[in-house]
Amino acid sequence: MVQIKSVGVIGAGQMGTGIAHVVALGGYDVLLHDVSAERLDAGMGLIVRNMTRQVTRGIITQEAMDAGIARIKPAPELQTIGATDLAIEAATENEELKKAIFKALAPHMSDSILLASNTSSISITRLAAATDRPDRFIGLHFMNPAPLMKLVEIIRGIATGPETYETAVQFAQSLGKTTANAEDFPAFIVNRVLVPMINEAIYTLYEGVGTVEAIDTAMKLGANHPMGPLELGDFIGLDTVLSIMNVLYEGLADSKYRPCPLLVKYVEAGWLGRKAGRGFYDYRGEVPVPTR
Ligand code: NAD
Repeated sequence: MVQIKSVGVIGAGQMGTGIAHVVALGGYDVLLHDVSAERLDAGMGLIVRNMTRQVTRGIITQEAMDAGIARIKPAPELQTIGATDLAIEAATENEELKKAIFKALAPHMSDSILLASNTSSISITRLAAATDRPDRFIGLHFMNPAPLMKLVEIIRGIATGPETYETAVQFAQSLGKTTANAEDFPAFIVNRVLVPMINEAIYTLYEGVGTVEAIDTAMKLGANHPMGPLELGDFIGLDTVLSIMNVLYEGLADSKYRPCPLLVKYVEAGWLGRKAGRGFYDYRGEVPVPTR
């Protein structure tokens, strides 16, 4: 089995920072890459804020945070990721973009590197086939926020080798996570069930069945969900929700997965949810205010 000591994380957005955070606290050296110095600075700042919150709440010690932060190094050049033992891609949910990242990384990869994607929905088999080592490629799907959520979904592509799979499971468990295996079909398990529910909540809003507030209150108190579906869509990112619906719609060729036109409109407006300051709620004031 491959000994993982260093991990490269590609993409320093919500998920990349969360993965770098949990992996560094797990004792691994981390290289964090994004497209610009600004993105990397913002990502590093977010990790510090999130770890500080964990210290304040007594979840981790100050010493653990200091050691964790010291293990994460910004990597402005993608090629440096090629020398790590495991590269986890957590860039924007776009198949061509993800394939281009692995293509650019390929000439710099060591022979022993394992490749993983944190994609929410895109075929692991197709991403793996775009590399020169599909047997060393796997889906490692962390949940958001990665430091808190217990599950990592593990997705084997058709060519993923047994050693890659065993190493990935052991790696996820070493971070204190529980794994669930999903077959490589569009959106795997969690998002196959969750995202159509969010899309349906948006249809419910679109058709005027309820307001943003009524829909979220109804699902929180009526179904015992910790967050309402619209609040959750904003939390995930509405661009990601739309990408996942498109993958389901195209991948399963079933009209029941068609993205709600209102979701498309929000994404076109750049109202992507929390990360953009506005989605089904406006987050720019003291408390979130529904936008419809
Ligand atoms: P995000 O928009 O917060 O971050 C994406 C990051 O990728 C950005 O910082 C962007 O600059 C960077 N990026 C874009 N192109 C890049 C490139 N060529 N090289 C390096 N970095 C690049 O998105 P996110 O929510 O962090 O999602 C990232 C991935 O994680 C997606 O595949 C998504 O489906 C998956 N995911 C998201 C969630 C969620 O709840 N948001 C949960 C699990 C998995």
